[in-house]
Amino acid sequence: MPKNLAKTLAKDYPNFRFKLNCPRFSYQNGTIYIGEDGAYSDLQTLHELGHALCGHSDFNTHIKRLKLEREAWDMTKTLCKKYHVTWNDVYVESCLDTYRDWLHTKSKCKNCGLTRYQDSSGTYHCPRCETFVS
Ligand SMILES: [Zn+2]
Ligand SMILES: [Zn+2]
Repeated sequence: MPKNLAKTLAKDYPNFRFKLNCPRFSYQNGTIYIGEDGAYSDLQTLHELGHALCGHSDFNTHIKRLKLEREAWDMTKTLCKKYHVTWNDVYVESCLDTYRDWLHTKSKCKNCGLTRYQDSSGTYHCPRCETFVS
């Protein structure tokens, strides 16, 4: 029950705010958004707390994003033990796959199909066409 877990977390981490919404962490307002009850909602909640505890603020570049997701899941593993939430490898891998697929599709150049790269501001560059398409 994510709402019960949220109550416990709100007590343990008074420096973050917990709200019901689409699960994510907002660094800007220090808020952890918690999704509706579901099979993996507790795991998802701890994952968002993982982002918060890692201090993740920059989700600009997708390659970095995948790294941050891994970091947050590592933290989630520790939190799962602490709060007695069941870890699920299949679920976690499928979450990471979403980012892998997304990274793959987003990074392709529409012009020539070559894999593009992102600069630090998140802008895509094609090594062949050098078109700056975001
Ligand atoms: Zn995440
Ligand atoms: Zn190209």
